[in-house]
Amino acid sequence: MHPLNLIRLVPAEGMWPEDASMRPGPSALVTSPIGQAARAESEMITPSTENPTWRFPIHGASDPSSTGQGTTPGSFAHRADIGGPLSFSSPDTPGMPPASMSTAWDFLPEGWTIEAVDGPETGCGGHNQADIGECIRAVPTPGFKPITQLESARLGIVTPEMARVAEREEHLTEFQVRDEVASGRLVIPANRNHLAFDLDPMAIGRASKTKVNANMGASPVSSSTDEEVEKLKWAERWAADTVMDLSTGGDLDATRLAILRNSTVPIGTVPIYSMIIGRKIEDLNETMILETLEHQAKQGVDYFTIHAGVRKAHIPLVRDRLIGIVSRGGALLAKWMLTHNAENPMYTAWEKICGVMRQHDVTFSIGDGLRPGGLADATDAAQLGELECLGELTERAWRCGVQVMVEGPGHVPFDQIEFNMKLQRRLCHGAPFYVLGPLVTDMFPGYDHITSCIGATAAAYHGASMLCYVTPKEHLGLPKREDVKQGCIAYRIAAHAADVALGIPGTRDNDDELTKARAALNWQKHFDLSFDPDTARAYHDEDLDVDTDFCAMCGHDWCSVRISKEIQEFASGKAEGFDRGKAIRSGALTAEQQEILEKRGVLSPEEIHKLASKAKGEVPNEDGKASCHSDHVDPDEAKRIQSETLVQLNTAPAHNLPSHDSIL
Ligand code: SF4
Repeated sequence: MHPLNLIRLVPAEGMWPEDASMRPGPSALVTSPIGQAARAESEMITPSTENPTWRFPIHGASDPSSTGQGTTPGSFAHRADIGGPLSFSSPDTPGMPPASMSTAWDFLPEGWTIEAVDGPETGCGGHNQADIGECIRAVPTPGFKPITQLESARLGIVTPEMARVAEREEHLTEFQVRDEVASGRLVIPANRNHLAFDLDPMAIGRASKTKVNANMGASPVSSSTDEEVEKLKWAERWAADTVMDLSTGGDLDATRLAILRNSTVPIGTVPIYSMIIGRKIEDLNETMILETLEHQAKQGVDYFTIHAGVRKAHIPLVRDRLIGIVSRGGALLAKWMLTHNAENPMYTAWEKICGVMRQHDVTFSIGDGLRPGGLADATDAAQLGELECLGELTERAWRCGVQVMVEGPGHVPFDQIEFNMKLQRRLCHGAPFYVLGPLVTDMFPGYDHITSCIGATAAAYHGASMLCYVTPKEHLGLPKREDVKQGCIAYRIAAHAADVALGIPGTRDNDDELTKARAALNWQKHFDLSFDPDTARAYHDEDLDVDTDFCAMCGHDWCSVRISKEIQEFASGKAEGFDRGKAIRSGALTAEQQEILEKRGVLSPEEIHKLASKAKGEVPNEDGKASCHSDHVDPDEAKRIQSETLVQLNTAPAHNLPSHDSIL
């Protein structure tokens, strides 16, 4: 065992429970890697208060704010360990599996060796070959030409895609990107054929920011190629980092090609869906598998979900589950194995599959065909048995020079999420974990974007690198445009919350700017900095359509932010030329904002129409600005406009309030 895997947790003075029976005995050890990650006790930050009964926990992550503004002590996560096994990581709850000390460097192709080299332009860090040298490079067999990002990284080459990733991940250098790719902890899903279109390379791994995938795809009963392309564009607008085309109906080939030609984000597929179109799963054979993979790889698909880890021996383990096998690929392959009484053909043909993937640099997303479909089946023998096999397949793919990420559950009670993440980190040697949700409760269909984004936040904090979104339509139907938006937003929240918690540099900057605008009651800047400005503006204007020193939630007399401003001047982002105490006439609603309010169904169509058109005739349009943008009006004038000219909104009936019970 690595000596650093045995540590004793020593709480800060004053942190022991008062009840002696609750304190650990002298032999209490936890098995956790610590690496460079934990801050020494002497470095601990202590609160400024004299209160002796509490201290901040041991922590050492970098501040997620670039400017260090505010008063928070910062992230309680581990110190960043880029180049080590932890990257950005949460402190381990006692009993968690330690990180693997192996990397892709330990699974080189047959006949390859490693040599020590000098300088930062070579493969430094991110490997487990300290006996050879701090900086190393792989020496391939004679005549070898690199194709994949992994192969280039092993040879010490910084590809244009790695350089682009370093631009997008501002906290990483291109050498760090290359070294993380070489270690197998970072993947750049960039099929060489998709790069010929408009793909903008990105990376997935614990050293980079958490990514979000949006699933889409036509089903046999719904949608078309045009609709799927529209959903792709919609998902890109709402900041999906990758998109999976899971079509099982319509013209699969045309839809896939249209999505590839129109996407700037990597595209993933589950090729077994195409393999069985027009035939029964029982007829599937190795030739069909390889031909389908070759075809989709040539089209430009960036990553394939391949359910090779579902083994024949695992099938009896699902017998007592409440909901059996819920993965489509897993269920189909289990049927094939039972019909033929043979091993999973994806597993037995693994090296041949790797050969196809390598030729086009398609990244594996090794599927979790036995993921739990309900809380009652989580973390069971079938799921963990498959996960062990995914670790084996990861090692074999690395030996073939293919990039790997690994897929994970599914439906997991909140308390089991950290274990699931850290077990994968252990068994798959840090290969990026790509998880669906997980949902932390099963009884809220229609709201599973929420049940799952709670689990996704925990998963991203504890070890996942990419989160597959879940929409409100999960378990119920094919997502439409609005469902795609809701799923994307829920998962961007999860990913961003985890990134801030992990202390990834710069991730809190936008939050801080928005906080400053909020403190300054600079409404327009507040909305401009928000992820969904249309919804924020529409909700604001629904109740009060001037931008002034309070909003309709508390009203003027109870606005704590306004009162705070009277106590203290904030260094804030007030609009240029702002004159304290003056209200700003808010803009007329855009079509999108009108639609948002229409869906809420609180205001009548007439009231929404007035909100949309109210200011257009009131304020002249100057210098190309929106007619009502940032024009200052006198507070008394604001009141007059509210009562006389603008819409006098009355939401009281919708809230079952007497009409005289006005917020203002
Ligand atoms: S009125 Fe209330 S919710 Fe609105 S800005 Fe002031 S404190 Fe915030």
